[in-house]
Amino acid sequence: MVSVLAIILVSGIQVALGVIVGWVLGQRTRQLPALEQPRPVCGCTHHYSMHDPKTGECQVAVGDGECACVRYTGPVPLTEYYAPDITGSGQ
Ligand SMILES: [Zn+2]
Ligand SMILES: [Zn+2]
Repeated sequence: MVSVLAIILVSGIQVALGVIVGWVLGQRTRQLPALEQPRPVCGCTHHYSMHDPKTGECQVAVGDGECACVRYTGPVPLTEYYAPDITGSGQ
């Protein structure tokens, strides 16, 4: 029964290939940065949270006054994107 042996052999190779491919993919995904968010830091070197959400001005105290930054220019954290208020408090 050569054909049975062949089937067993082929299926064995397929399983081996699957394991190898899975391992390679695992290695590859492990090397990629897992959807790492960029640090939410402004061009003025201050953190996103230090900027006023409405005016965008930086509120970090620098020397005698505040930071001269008037608008946050760094990456915005994904969690800061919020859906419109559907409870309809206004209007
Ligand atoms: Zn800033
Ligand atoms: Zn600043």
